Amino acid sequence: MSTPALGLPMVVPAPDLPARVRIHEVGARDGLQNEKGAVPTEVKAEFIRRLADAGLTTIEATSFVHPQWVPQLADAEQLFPLVRDVPVELPVLVPNARGLDRALALNATRVAVFASATESFAKANLNRTVDEALAMFAPVVARAKAEQVHVRGYLSMCFGDPWEGPVPIHQVVRVSKALMDMGCDELSLGDTIGVATPAHVQDLLSQLNEEGVPTSAIGVHFHDTYGQALANTLAALQHGVTTVDASAGGLGGCPYAKSATGNLATEDLVWMLQGLGIDTGVDLGRLTATSVWMAGHLGRPSPSRTVRALSHQEQ
Ligand code: MG
Repeated sequence: MSTPALGLPMVVPAPDLPARVRIHEVGARDGLQNEKGAVPTEVKAEFIRRLADAGLTTIEATSFVHPQWVPQLADAEQLFPLVRDVPVELPVLVPNARGLDRALALNATRVAVFASATESFAKANLNRTVDEALAMFAPVVARAKAEQVHVRGYLSMCFGDPWEGPVPIHQVVRVSKALMDMGCDELSLGDTIGVATPAHVQDLLSQLNEEGVPTSAIGVHFHDTYGQALANTLAALQHGVTTVDASAGGLGGCPYAKSATGNLATEDLVWMLQGLGIDTGVDLGRLTATSVWMAGHLGRPSPSRTVRALSHQEQ
């Protein structure tokens, strides 16, 4: 135990948890793409620089989807060169071969494809069946790997789906294996509508392991819609997961759940990890200041409990 500084939790380590966790920061992409307000390109670039200054080492920068689909990120070509020199990993989303072309033209070294565990969401998000989407990704992943580019496979609706309800674990395992088999380096298991609970998380992780997907290749992406994101994160850590997605300030509501609360806030995650004595490399004060700064640009306070508590933000 150590005496905490003001604004930091007391450190009380728990047994059998990882010594270090890599936070995959998604605020600049997943966060801003789900915010209503458009953010100027220069502000996005400054946001990414500030996140790096706060100690985040993997910062998803933008998305090379067609600008019509996600107008909030239509400036990917302008933004990426502005941040390319920031000394962190800067993954970008690519939906298809055209998106990969655009990312490779700008020398991206990490890309992500996004699949769905359910037919309904595959239809809504990609206008394809699950298998048609996988068939579209296969050559994208193969080409990225041939270019020595790291590939993350996002998998949405791993626990529940707004049209289909609870999602059977075998369905998630099947698509996860398909993404790994086509060459993805890691997976990000998304609880897109935030309905997961801790034993469900551990059950899915165990079944993935049984089917040959190692925990080291698995990241978790929880949403806080029902207040479960940190409990689910702890369950994943207990299983050995060391990659956790989070969004600075809790940016990005979920468009498929009518709630203000979407992505797990990075500050809330860092508070828990720091209290558990788990190294993240993140300076919580700097990160909170960054989210308060971004909240000013978006014109609304951060939904993160930790940001509120540390900044005494007016609600
Ligand atoms: Mg998300």
